Amino acid sequence: MKTKFTIVHLYPKRMNIYGDYGNIICLRKRLQWRGLDCEVAEVEAGEALPKNFDMIFIGGGQDRGQIRVAEDLQHKKHQLVEAVEDGLPALAICGGYQLFGDYFLSSDYGQLPGIGVFPVVTKATQTRMIGNVVLQSQAFGTLVGFENHSGATELYDNARPLGKVNKGYGNDPTKKFEGVIYNNGIGTYLHGSFLPKNPQVADHLLQIAATRRSNDLELSPLDDSLAKKAALIAQKRPQ
Ligand code: GLN
Repeated sequence: MKTKFTIVHLYPKRMNIYGDYGNIICLRKRLQWRGLDCEVAEVEAGEALPKNFDMIFIGGGQDRGQIRVAEDLQHKKHQLVEAVEDGLPALAICGGYQLFGDYFLSSDYGQLPGIGVFPVVTKATQTRMIGNVVLQSQAFGTLVGFENHSGATELYDNARPLGKVNKGYGNDPTKKFEGVIYNNGIGTYLHGSFLPKNPQVADHLLQIAATRRSNDLELSPLDDSLAKKAALIAQKRPQ
């Protein structure tokens, strides 16, 4: 019988800007291309998380849209924190990344509470950080994407950045690092969508989910030549 993975997609209507839904498409296709089954459990505000799931995804959103999401996340905090502490793979993009931290201090809407999945905190700046981004990541090599955020994110000591910024702003324009890796969770400002141009990250998250199901469930390699070409072109784009 095919192994069926469940990916929780948090707030797909409110938190999905700059093509973040493409990350879900990428994860689902990369499982299906390997003959594995995948269910995407979309969870909106007021809806409960499924009892069992293999991965968590949340996209980005405007400050205004983050207000309702921040409120609702408080009802899901315990289950989400426990899952990531237990090693469940998670990917949070931009506004979702911010609300997975301690709080996001928005310039227009005050302090929006986060849920502390990631040991980070975000405060809006007067700079709108927009443009193409190229990172050098110890874990994943060169990563590419697009950013558009006012929030500057600070990592606490027990967190490590996703990568060093070669082009773009990242977490904070003064520090030249971007994103966070905490346990098997990844937070990043990279839209684009992020995973289709950085398939090595998609497979990293999927392999963790597979191994949590069964130690001998090894994901077969895929031909990522097209994705690699897209990433190379993206690297050359001006900021
Ligand atoms: N509203 C947040 C900010 O401006 C996040 C934006 C986003 O998700 N692209 O920092």
